[in-house]
Amino acid sequence: MATHFPDALEAEFRASRANTVAELNRVPFHFGLSAVMVLLFSVWDWFVDPVHWATALAIRCAAVTVILSSGVIARRTTTSRWAMTIAKVRFSSAVLAVAGANAVLDQGYVYGLPGLVAAFLGGPYIVVDRRDYLSTTLMPLSGVALIMALIPLDRFTVVNTAVFLGLTIAVGLMLVRAFEATNRRAFALEQQLQREARTDPLTGLANRRSMEELAVAEFRRQVRSGQPTALILCDVDHFKQVNDEHGHDIGDRTIRAVGEQLRSVLRSTDTVGRWGGEEFLVLLPETGIGDAAALAERMRVTIERAGLPLAHDRPVTISLGVAAVTHDRSLTESARFDVALKQADNALYEAKQRGRNRVVTAAHAETAVPTA
Ligand code: GH3
Ligand code: MG
Ligand code: MG
Repeated sequence: MATHFPDALEAEFRASRANTVAELNRVPFHFGLSAVMVLLFSVWDWFVDPVHWATALAIRCAAVTVILSSGVIARRTTTSRWAMTIAKVRFSSAVLAVAGANAVLDQGYVYGLPGLVAAFLGGPYIVVDRRDYLSTTLMPLSGVALIMALIPLDRFTVVNTAVFLGLTIAVGLMLVRAFEATNRRAFALEQQLQREARTDPLTGLANRRSMEELAVAEFRRQVRSGQPTALILCDVDHFKQVNDEHGHDIGDRTIRAVGEQLRSVLRSTDTVGRWGGEEFLVLLPETGIGDAAALAERMRVTIERAGLPLAHDRPVTISLGVAAVTHDRSLTESARFDVALKQADNALYEAKQRGRNRVVTAAHAETAVPTA
């Protein structure tokens, strides 16, 4: 049920849990409620032992200060790096405050047991799995044991407390198991949805939305590094004929084959995505316009030589438009993408005009690679 993911995904799952806990840490209702609970039991303290009530209140207030400060810190930190630690400090201080208050009250460990149990039940919400839960519980539990060892208690109270805390932790383990299974299922589903939202179902390549996101992320990096970036837009020549003469199924298979061929030519840092119908977009990070044009020519030749059948037994060919992405800092990433895309599209149009099965480089029309 609660099986682990492969390593990289497992790390992501844990990071997403830390994120959830970070969000929880920031919610005023959440940390406010912990503080109110710790203080609320002060009313019980009054009935149990009015003489030591004020001392118990002071201990409770110390924990409330820690809890409220943890809320303020969590609201100011934007990263989730410390989320688990903040939550654990909050949890431990609530448990230790109740344990400390019980210690100063006469008969505190008899009447204060529900408060202690309630404080321990905060644990399952802030952990990833059962092992994490046990290690998270160990610290406050040792604190409680130490406090109990330092004060005179009759054997019944010690056994009673041990039994109820043991049961509470057992219930906690069951809760953690159920939460973990639900969390893992939700995470796996979210991953699958994200993957599907970014993938073109026909070719398995990145889809248009994913290419746009990748391009914007890449162009942001490009401005920082000062490296050139290029785009290639390709379109299958005379593709309507495939559908007309062989039907849509063969057309689909051809699109898939072209996608596979293009991917085989590219380097690992390059990304090819399906831009639309039988059009593909290639994103080339850290690539100058000359290298991009050479790569486009290699793509053209690869498709031509792959011998994918088209109508009238002509092999499938593609036309390609190449464009460099500007470094102009006055433009946003998506504006730079639009400009480069427009240039690549114009170059592609020109390649079609000039007879297809060729590469045209934007603003370098004279360097267009002629067909063999
Ligand atoms: P050109 O050389 O000018 O590009 O000619 P073309 O016939 O390829 O013209 P164009 O690129 O405008 O037409 C693309 C055709 O691709 C139109 C449409 O019927 C077909 N098409 C688009 N998407 C799909 C698809 O997912 N599957 C199939 N089988 N055909 C598609
Ligand atoms: Mg076409
Ligand atoms: Mg087209």
